This record gives sequence, C-alpha cells and structure tokens, in this order.
Amino acid sequence: MPGTLKDSYGRTIRDLRVSLTDRCNFRCFYCLPHGEPPIAPKEQMLSYEEIESACEVFVSLGIQKIRLTGGETMMRRDIETIIRKLTVLKSSGLKDLALTTNGYFLPDRAQGLKDAGLDRITISLDSLKRDVFKRMTGVDVLDRVLSGIDAAQKAGLEPIKINAVIVRGHNDDELVDFAAFARTHDVKMRFIEFMPLDSGHEWNRLQVVSGREIRDCISEKFPLVPVDGPRGSETSSRYHFADGAPGEIGIIAPVTEMFCGACSRIRLTADGQIRTCLFSTVEHSLRDVIRSGASRDEIIEYIEAVVLKKEPRHFINDPGFVAPSRTMSFIGG
Ligand code: SAM
Repeated sequence: MPGTLKDSYGRTIRDLRVSLTDRCNFRCFYCLPHGEPPIAPKEQMLSYEEIESACEVFVSLGIQKIRLTGGETMMRRDIETIIRKLTVLKSSGLKDLALTTNGYFLPDRAQGLKDAGLDRITISLDSLKRDVFKRMTGVDVLDRVLSGIDAAQKAGLEPIKINAVIVRGHNDDELVDFAAFARTHDVKMRFIEFMPLDSGHEWNRLQVVSGREIRDCISEKFPLVPVDGPRGSETSSRYHFADGAPGEIGIIAPVTEMFCGACSRIRLTADGQIRTCLFSTVEHSLRDVIRSGASRDEIIEYIEAVVLKKEPRHFINDPGFVAPSRTMSFIGG
C-alpha cells in the first residue's frame, strides 16, 4: 500500500514533475530570452537509473501522477527507455504518466512514446501564425509542431493538451483562433498566464493577460460552460463549449487567480534538486542524498522532511517578491 506525503499545511502531495534535462532547442522569449542558460554538467544530472529509483520511492510515498518535463524532454536521449521503466510503477500505485514537449520531435517519435507506455502528452503551441510563432519561440517550425500534434493524435496519446502562454502584445489577439483550433482538432486548449520565470527577469505585470480576460474574450465568440465537478488540485479551470462542440478550454491563472491552497505538486530538477514550489528560492539536493549512499529509509525520511517545508503559497503579488534564479526551462514547467 502506498503511503501518503503530506505537507505542514495538510496538503497531500500526489503529483511529481520530473525535469529530464535543462537543454532546449527553442528559445521562447518568456523563458530563455537571452540564449542558452548555464547547462548543468553531465555528472550533475540524474541518470535514468537515479530517476527511476527516485520515482519508485516517490510512488511508494503516494505519488500518483508523474509528468516528465524540462527543458525539452525529447532532447534527452532515448526517452522511451525512461518511459518504459516508469510505466512499471503502475503496478505499485502510479496512475498517470504524462510528458510535456514543444512537439518538434513528435512527427517521427509520437508512436514510439505511446508504445513505451506514455499515457498523455501536453504540447506547447504559442501561436498559429508562422511569424508570431517564430518571434515567440525563436524557431521557424510552426508546421512541424502542427504535424507533431497530428502524429500524437494518430498515435492515440489522447486527450492531448495544448499549452499557450498568452503575453500581451504578442499572441493575445489569437485567443479565439486557439479556441477554434480546440474545436476543430478536439484538443484541450490551455491558456497560461505569463509568470515571472524568464531567465532575463524581464517579466512585467502589464504583459500578463489575466485568466478572466481570456475567458471573457473566448466566451464572446464561443460561450463556455464550466466542466462539472470539483477542480481539486488541477492547475486549470476547465470549460466545455456551450454548443457541444468537441474540445475543451483550460485556463491556468497562477498570477491573478492563485490556486496554491489545493497544490499537490513537487518537482525534481534535472540535477536532482527537489523544489516544493515553482517559485521556491531554495532547493533540496535529493541527488546528494542518493549519491551519499543513503539507505531507502534515509531517502524516505529526507523526502518527507523536505515536503514539510513546502511553502504555503507563492508570493508573486507581494511587494517584496523575488523571482527564482533559475528559469522555467531548468526548473521544469
Ligand atoms: N519543452 C517543453 C515545452 O515546450 O512544453 C517542456 C518545458 S516548458 C518549460 C513547459 C511549459 O512551461 C511550456 O508550456 C511553457 O510554455 C511554459 N512556460 C515557460 N516559461 C513560462 C513563463 N515564464 N510563464 C508561463 N509559462 C511558461
């Protein structure tokens, strides 16, 4: 029977995000605006064996959902291997294995991910216009990403979620187009508020398009109805189309509609640091504990103690807010 990981505010931790790499082949301006961040030396990165063994311990402590993220997950070599290894944890309590990707490698590799045992995929897509996509991501590959979405659907990696970070003056005029895309492609289109996690620390509140504005704008063209049932620890508020069209809208509004009270997440960075919040300014080196030869009981004790330090909430809206020094591409989105 899996145990239960609880923080000091009574929140149960069920969701682990594992960053497989800090490398990325895109240069999204809201994440890596000034090129490559310092890349962690290879010896500091967790090996697949270390990731597998850490995940096994986390699942024994009650983690039910693992999302592989990065950096660009598919830049880590032989990612199908780690997926295959983690799939085995389904017999001990893992319920959901998901992956976030920019979609670049999917045209050739979506079926391989499915065959390895991946349940679900989230693909980033910040614009449906070639020039805007290029400006936002630094690469001119919109068509390739669209083919990747198609390949993921054909491989049966459904339901597919599409993430768009909405930034004022860049892609906020495409909200209705994205909603139409969700309807015609039958995908879950998720709109994310721009967060202060860019490597240049140039985030500006005026660039944030609020969840409410996104909802109102889409509803004017396509009326929305909230999905029934409690939101639980989900990051997004979810909506169906009132006319019964396929697809779904999700709005992730951590800046203007904080949802920390129901947070069930912790993160493991590519270099083996546990982060108890996306906005944590301290990290806890599980890697050092594992590499010191600690016993399984000692590793469990360490994880439980770290989880007790989980922050009550993020402080983005407080006057003294300090952004984490590491960018989203390193932390793992
Ligand atoms: N490379 C993969 C991808 O592109 O989806 C996974 C990593 S990426 C860091 C994960 C998610 O974080 C993406 O949907 C990305 O758009 C989002 N993201 C990155 N920086 C962000 C920021 N400053 N604010 C909001 N979302 C951000």
